[in-house]
Amino acid sequence: MRALIGWFVAYFARWLPHRAPTGLFAVGRPGAGSPVLVTANFTLTVKRVLRALAGQDVWLLVANSEGINVWCAACGGILTENRIIDAVKISKLAEKVSHNEIIIPQLSAPGVDREAVKQQTGFRCRFGPVYARDIPAYLEARKKKTDRMRRFDFGPRHRLDMFLPMNFPVYLLIAAVLALVAPKQLAGFTVLFWAAVGILYLLLDVIPGKTGWGQAMFAALTVVLAWAGINWYLWANPFAHWGWWIATFLVFFAAGFDIAGILSPRTSDAERMMQRLGFKRFGSLFVETERGTVELDPVKCCGCLTCKDVCPVGVFSGIDANKKAVIGHPEACFSCGACVKQCPEGALAFAAHELGPGS
Ligand code: SF4
Ligand code: SF4
Repeated sequence: MRALIGWFVAYFARWLPHRAPTGLFAVGRPGAGSPVLVTANFTLTVKRVLRALAGQDVWLLVANSEGINVWCAACGGILTENRIIDAVKISKLAEKVSHNEIIIPQLSAPGVDREAVKQQTGFRCRFGPVYARDIPAYLEARKKKTDRMRRFDFGPRHRLDMFLPMNFPVYLLIAAVLALVAPKQLAGFTVLFWAAVGILYLLLDVIPGKTGWGQAMFAALTVVLAWAGINWYLWANPFAHWGWWIATFLVFFAAGFDIAGILSPRTSDAERMMQRLGFKRFGSLFVETERGTVELDPVKCCGCLTCKDVCPVGVFSGIDANKKAVIGHPEACFSCGACVKQCPEGALAFAAHELGPGS
């Protein structure tokens, strides 16, 4: 029963910290030459990594990210080089393995200074794939990543994964209030809520609008107009259920609150609102980050392509004839900071600009 409750909390409340034990774990029967994979101590992440590693003989080093997933913890300044250094030293990793390489998650790139890890532990950090499910293929390919392994996937698989955990707690909260104050409206609200969320999750890429809230309002307006048309056709009165119009706008408003940040590489409206209200951070859920377009200084660039290796949205397309990095898709950049942090030559920087409605 406790395990079931633990799974329920880890799955449905994934935006809350949920700590797994830290330390060095043997997966299968690893030896001194086996690879060492590092991850964060977010319960769901550790479970997924362990599932992906079934059948492998590797070491798994779980670093303390305070129970937060890799990307949020790295962007939020929690999963830094210090946490990796601590994990390596406390676990006495150097006594267990005969090599000096650790494979850290690609999504930790915004937070981890690899040079510092090397200086303080002697271990060289190599960035693994974005998803744990790609680790076996990555190891099989002698630690070579394909472009697909570097990309964060905002597609159907990600949306399916986010659909219930991100929305069920909100639904539960509103439904509980409704059950107390207006129980007769509960069934209608349930249909409306999941239809609204379903529309946004399925059609976000084609709904017009630059912000998640803008898109949600456009979808709400479309639904309300369709509803008015049906009412006019069936009852000759387009305003027959006007109360539900308001409910439709409110539900879409709530569903669109953070949708851009969850389902696309855009700043969420929630974050933008926090920034405008003057908040620098809100726990690990929101941290004000430097905004702007990433710019390359070709004089400094050595063509190592570390930037391409860590960018989760494929902004860098390769190197040119002069062996300088090429920013092939600047429009895809969402200022995560990974390339700027990892560029060994300091050739990348943000050209800061004012936050606009579409930024
Ligand atoms: S990481 Fe820096 S030095 Fe290396 S290719 Fe990219 S911009 Fe150039
Ligand atoms: S190019 Fe933009 S999105 Fe890609 S790693 Fe750099 S900052 Fe992040």
